[in-house]
Amino acid sequence: MKIDDFLHLNSPEGKWIVAGLGTLFLLFLIARRRRLARQAQADAVEEDDMVVVFPQGVAGQLAIEPWMIAPDVSAVFAALTKDGKEARFVGGCVRDALMKRPIGDIDIATQEPPERVVMLLKDAGIQAVPTGIEHGTVTAVLNGKTFEITTLRCDVSTDGRRATVAFTDDWREDAARRDFTFNTLSATPDGSVYDYFNGMQDLAHRLIRFVGRVDERIAEDRLRMLRYFRFMATLGMRIAERYEFQMVVNNAEHLAELSAERIRDELLKIVGSSNQHDAVRIMFEQGIFAVILPEVADTVWFKRLSWLDSSAIKIGDIGPDPIRRLAALIETDGAGAEAVARRLKLSRAQIRRLTRLKAPAWQAAPETSEAELRGMLSELGAEEVIDLALLEWSHRLIITPRLLKSETEAWQKLLTQAAAWEPIDLPIKGGDIVALGIPPGPRVSELLRAVEAWWRAGGCTADRDACLTDLSARIINNTGNNAPERGQ
Ligand code: ATP
Ligand code: MG
Repeated sequence: MKIDDFLHLNSPEGKWIVAGLGTLFLLFLIARRRRLARQAQADAVEEDDMVVVFPQGVAGQLAIEPWMIAPDVSAVFAALTKDGKEARFVGGCVRDALMKRPIGDIDIATQEPPERVVMLLKDAGIQAVPTGIEHGTVTAVLNGKTFEITTLRCDVSTDGRRATVAFTDDWREDAARRDFTFNTLSATPDGSVYDYFNGMQDLAHRLIRFVGRVDERIAEDRLRMLRYFRFMATLGMRIAERYEFQMVVNNAEHLAELSAERIRDELLKIVGSSNQHDAVRIMFEQGIFAVILPEVADTVWFKRLSWLDSSAIKIGDIGPDPIRRLAALIETDGAGAEAVARRLKLSRAQIRRLTRLKAPAWQAAPETSEAELRGMLSELGAEEVIDLALLEWSHRLIITPRLLKSETEAWQKLLTQAAAWEPIDLPIKGGDIVALGIPPGPRVSELLRAVEAWWRAGGCTADRDACLTDLSARIINNTGNNAPERGQ
């Protein structure tokens, strides 16, 4: 007897049985899949919440670097630890030293309350400036160097911009209020590293991970979203958790609540960085710039310029510059650039520079003659000429990524000349004009300007005699403002 006959599968009832069993099996598979997905989700959350708590002891050893034992630093530590309380390096300097990168500012944390910090420093003959005393920060100034000293604290309440704080003597509590795991590390001057949130491991893997719950940490301080991208761009940090990155992106609109100064400081650091992982493009694509700098319409020009100024050329001290790069990033004219610069509360010099770069006084070109270049260098100064040349060169690289060898060489020659430019003065002064019988007044400056324009158009090569001859001709012909003839 065949099995089909035995189970009556060929009968109508048998077919129903098979269909029923099949459906049950399918339902079982679906339920199993759902259960596994739920389990995976739960595991992910647990992993996120799981914080490896290291013993209060030392978690690592930092090779002692000269800055850690410099006399000024030692003097500050001696003052802060006089009464037996502990002080440690914290934040960026520990992180950067572990990464074997040059350190920026030196931040120090102490168990002493801020008022005591001021007294202890003063007793040791160190100037103490209460730069943010309500948040526990005192700046020590010693031999022209500054050290930010912050009392251990935890944030009691926050509104996305500012925090109300409470002081503590617990190092772990202080670490918990910091932004990313690699920024929670602290170290003593003998190189002992303390790590309460697995920061060393994340640093080793170049992973950026929020301390605590990402949604809460972002709500406490919106700046952390920009700092997230900053550390991607500057240190090449990679996303540890996709959902943290997504949470940052989803909250981008809240960046508008930050003060212009805080946005500016982070933005300039990002724009001036090595832009690792092409973080600036990621920010653009994820709508970050739409909130903080809507003038960004594309990032290709910025990318080409960054490649030129940091990798492709080695000329004089030409290197990355945040304002020049900002000019390549925003799509606007002179007036628009000025508005951007004012909105970001840039310095007066930076406002002027950005504005002029978006309304160029000179059309840079590789075929610029030597005389024209010298004239431009004299008129605009080396910085502006270099800026405009790099902007134009990189702009051409958008369309033609590989320029003709001759054009590349011409740009290099132009920049080399600009980088080596020493300003020269016009060989005549107002007094020379007065000596020729022109009474002091507007006519003197008019003539001076005219001779200067002629001198520049000739590449600033005319000597004093030639300038005086030109001046006399202008006085005799009663001309002054005539446009100079090139090469005269
Ligand atoms: P750098 O000084 O190289 O720019 P940094 O990480 O030291 O980088 P600072 O602004 O000097 O940045 O801050 C010092 C430390 O204070 C940080 O490392 C971090 O631990 C903490 N910190 C700074 N800003 C925040 C923030 N917005 N939220 C939480 N912690 C922060
Ligand atoms: Mg710092």
